[in-house]
Amino acid sequence: MDQLWTRCNNCRRILYRQDILDNFFVCSACGFHFRLAAVDRLKMLLDESKFKLIDQNIIPKDPLGFEDSMKYSQRLVDNQKSTSLSDAVINAEGTMGGIEVVVSVMEFGFMGGSMGSVVGEKITLAAERALERKVPLIIVSCSGGARMQEGALSLMQLMKTSSAIARFEDVRLPYISVLTDPTTGGVTASFAMLGDINISEPNALIGFAGPRVIEQTIKEKLPKGFQRSEFLLRHGMLDDVVERKNLRPYLIRALRLFLNRPQ
Ligand SMILES: [Zn+2]
Repeated sequence: MDQLWTRCNNCRRILYRQDILDNFFVCSACGFHFRLAAVDRLKMLLDESKFKLIDQNIIPKDPLGFEDSMKYSQRLVDNQKSTSLSDAVINAEGTMGGIEVVVSVMEFGFMGGSMGSVVGEKITLAAERALERKVPLIIVSCSGGARMQEGALSLMQLMKTSSAIARFEDVRLPYISVLTDPTTGGVTASFAMLGDINISEPNALIGFAGPRVIEQTIKEKLPKGFQRSEFLLRHGMLDDVVERKNLRPYLIRALRLFLNRPQ
């Protein structure tokens, strides 16, 4: 969205870009939630848009020497250039409503937010940092799933991140998972669905396998809206669907409830 005007992906209306920015990157005509860059998400969530980035010195490698239509090592360089990030997640420390938090936000612009070794490591580090500092953890997911270019190493991240999250139970600290459009594959199958509460933005695509694979497997037509957040909420897979403009106050209220702090 670099231009003055932009088109809504949903209602196709032409919108003044500044209006969208002022409206939390949500279409003022139809309520469509535009995808957010990770850094914009942090600015939106944390007090006074202030935060300290952490774990920035972890960079991906190409352990398998993988090559499809291009070398994985080259793909990494290209994505690092286009996003100015080392990989598909950023970790930060800051406060929300005065409460100290550790926040991880995934960046879809970096190889579809796919989870390889670095994403797994950074999610784990964020969890460990929150545990060490005895503060809540919030993870905002946006991912197509495990990163194929790292093969089994990507799949190992499901177990690694899940084990890190499991430790929150023992110390009774809250971990809140926010699922945004899209959250699929190995990310849904690990930390994104393991929150003390799992909440989502409206109309976000959330699932494990894609609808075509499921239809072929079960040989049935899937219902309308299947794998969208409202459908998942109705069927007990999510705790709430929260509009972006309400997300920050919602999270602060949830943190206060979990930590038993006065409202
Ligand atoms: Zn629209």
